[in-house]
Amino acid sequence: MFDKILIANRGEIALRVVRACREMGIKSVAVHSTADADAMHVRMADEAICIGPAPSGQSYLNFPAIISACEISGAQAIHPCYGFLSENANFVQVVEDHGLTFIGPSAAHIRMMGDKITAKETAKNLGIPCVPGSDGGVPDIESARKAAADMGYPVIIKATAGGGGRGMKVAKDEKELETAFRTARSEAKAAFGNDEVYMEKYLQKPRHIEIQVFGDGQGNGVHLGERDCSLQRRHQKVLEEAPGPCITEEERARIGKICADAIAEMKYSGAGTIEFLYEDGEFYFIEMNTRLQVEHPVTEAIFGVDLVREQINVAAGNTLSFTQDDLHIRGHAIEVRINAERLPNFAPCPGKITQYHAPGGLGVRMDSALYQGYSIPPYYDSLIGKLIVHGADRQEALSRLYRALGELIVDGIETTTPLFDALLAEPDIQAGNYNIHWLEKWLEKNLG
Ligand code: ADP
Repeated sequence: MFDKILIANRGEIALRVVRACREMGIKSVAVHSTADADAMHVRMADEAICIGPAPSGQSYLNFPAIISACEISGAQAIHPCYGFLSENANFVQVVEDHGLTFIGPSAAHIRMMGDKITAKETAKNLGIPCVPGSDGGVPDIESARKAAADMGYPVIIKATAGGGGRGMKVAKDEKELETAFRTARSEAKAAFGNDEVYMEKYLQKPRHIEIQVFGDGQGNGVHLGERDCSLQRRHQKVLEEAPGPCITEEERARIGKICADAIAEMKYSGAGTIEFLYEDGEFYFIEMNTRLQVEHPVTEAIFGVDLVREQINVAAGNTLSFTQDDLHIRGHAIEVRINAERLPNFAPCPGKITQYHAPGGLGVRMDSALYQGYSIPPYYDSLIGKLIVHGADRQEALSRLYRALGELIVDGIETTTPLFDALLAEPDIQAGNYNIHWLEKWLEKNLG
């Protein structure tokens, strides 16, 4: 096992990894930008090293600074968390070239899944059902017209290098196709420096269902059920729950086995998420994320496992510490993402926290790096906390969420908390009756 791990990230997720390290008796090294000198992850880690100025390109994405921090501190492994360098295959290569361990999958697996066309091809070959779409990239408008005619409108044009919901455009009919195609390409170029796009049939009322998988790179693979992440704004998740309110035990067992077998066959190592759209009892693969997800705590809650501990365990060369037969679902969990944003426009709202009180009690977990007096810097993501509740069933989880939201105090800035108070009052949310478009429509009607 490692003696010391460097955490190449910030905020609640860096703190999450510090906590896992401490429980495992491993020393943690925080890295931080000058803007984060007072951050909670810096205070809680055993050691901290400043790696550059505020812009993430010069700090949290700065390969040489991070590698040097490992050498200075004697850390043997790097945990990338999510975002930043977590899915950067070149970084993994550099880490390994320096004789260090990357806590995550191999560079080859990250590359394979990072390019969405290769990812879909791989998925298809592994027997994972995919959304009907173009075979590979669509180079020009003529090919786009032909592909759309073959699969039928509406269609969605997506960036091969995409992520974070950017570079995606829907065309309802042929009239909209040309503009959608051009916009998707220019957005992809601007966001990812790569304008290659592909096309898929646009599903009208799917749910976003993702399967948590785990492998040890030695031929063992398991699944830890699904999360329903259909409540999205601009293709970004807002609330996640597990198990999915509409997924039956048979469906879970069927799609879960397909995913677990794929992970075993690929000899995938570490945590991963295979994302699907789900409509009328069918699952359609859209992408695989080769990292720990923001919403991993809902899975931890219902399975009673520590996914970060397991990531560290398999990265150290051990086999998985559980088999499929060891994994059983207990109850229901819901996570809401608390962002430093001002409603109704979700405008970023950084600033100083004048008062902070985290909810607690049975079945409540608050993953956050906030503290009273902390100033949220304007340079990074606006996620400031995740409130996760766990109950014996969905009803209990909902009541607990309502209760916990009432206890949360974050003063000095505005947050998205009022959104969840309002959502909990909606009969559709209470019934678990929503798809990927529900929230956008609700926002238009209620906040628009
Ligand atoms: P990203 O990597 O940018 O997050 P994804 O491929 O994971 O992109 O898609 C993000 C979201 O976009 C999905 O959760 C879903 O809401 C929507 N989406 C993607 N593909 C389709 C599709 N074929 N039909 C309908 N909605 C889609």
